[in-house]
Amino acid sequence: MQFKKLFIPGPTQVHPDVLAKMATPMIGHRGKDASDLQRSISEKMRTLMYTTGKIILSTSSGTGLMEGAIRSATAKRAIVFSIGAFGKRWYELAKLNGVEADLHEETPGQPTLPETVDKYLLTGKYDTVTITHNETSVGIMNPAYAITDVIKKYPDVVYLVDCVSSLGGTKVEVDKLGFDICITSSQKALALPPGLSIASISPKAEARFEKVGNKGYYLDLKNLVKYVDKKDYQYSSTPSLSHMFALDFQLDRIFKEGLESRFDRHLEMAEFTIEWANKYFKQFAKPGFESMTVTCIDNTRNINVGDLNKELAKRNMQISNGYGDLKDKTFRIAHMGELTMDDMVEVTGAIVEILKLK
Ligand SMILES: *Cc1c(COP(=O)(O)O)cnc(C)c1O
Repeated sequence: MQFKKLFIPGPTQVHPDVLAKMATPMIGHRGKDASDLQRSISEKMRTLMYTTGKIILSTSSGTGLMEGAIRSATAKRAIVFSIGAFGKRWYELAKLNGVEADLHEETPGQPTLPETVDKYLLTGKYDTVTITHNETSVGIMNPAYAITDVIKKYPDVVYLVDCVSSLGGTKVEVDKLGFDICITSSQKALALPPGLSIASISPKAEARFEKVGNKGYYLDLKNLVKYVDKKDYQYSSTPSLSHMFALDFQLDRIFKEGLESRFDRHLEMAEFTIEWANKYFKQFAKPGFESMTVTCIDNTRNINVGDLNKELAKRNMQISNGYGDLKDKTFRIAHMGELTMDDMVEVTGAIVEILKLK
């Protein structure tokens, strides 16, 4: 197998020291050591997420907690605001779980606008709203603060936010933003192997779980919170302890870099990549709403993305084609997790050379 430097929006590069932590010897998952490990992770996640809320872990990728969240938190009806493939996933999850939901989709490349959210919530039909903070399929970061200003007018609405590809790469102030359930995955900006997801839970979300009947078992968020509360930071079944060892260690590495430095590094990589995209192609995201962790590029030169990736592979690098319908029409370069400016200079330089761009 050829291991390439990954410029795809997940899984991302994992630091060798973090990978090594995945090989930590096992401990019993019902013992004090397991509680100490989960408590340590939770305290660090609270710092990273700027929240005093509860933290739950799930041995599933982020989609698992999205499924658990929409099912556990919707008593009446959910409104899903989608700006791409991952936004739409909330709606599919709702439908497949028998949760009443409506979908509002934007034209690809456009963000969710606060006034649109207001229009739906004004109807009083909804008790849950879902937003994608950073839509990986189109390289857009939604205007979270402006959307929050609208949602705050509706105190009975529970606010579910997909921060899978933003958390750890940009500041996500969960409490200030009023996110009731904020979800992330291990394999994006947190730069761990895939297979673990993490969410913050507000008191309002917890109160809502009480009002929802059939929540399943494995992804019942009330049950996951119960094991944290009543069993002193434990998990409802056997968790991926390997991921937990690695996450606990990676959070220390993240704090060692410093949160502001880490977010600045992502901002610098994003600005560089967007500028490069606009020099040779065109950015896909509406200007002003660019993602800090992944740039989606409009394939204005009609290049063959598959061939480009074959050439990049010879140089041990890999970028990402467009997602779903946007395949070949766009392509994506991620700049998150462990990547640095040097990496971005390397990958964009290689693309210029391969395609002989002028
Ligand atoms: C990757 C991604 C997901 C899906 O997460 P998994 O961990 O693959 O289940 C959801 N939303 C966004 C924005 C993503 O980037």
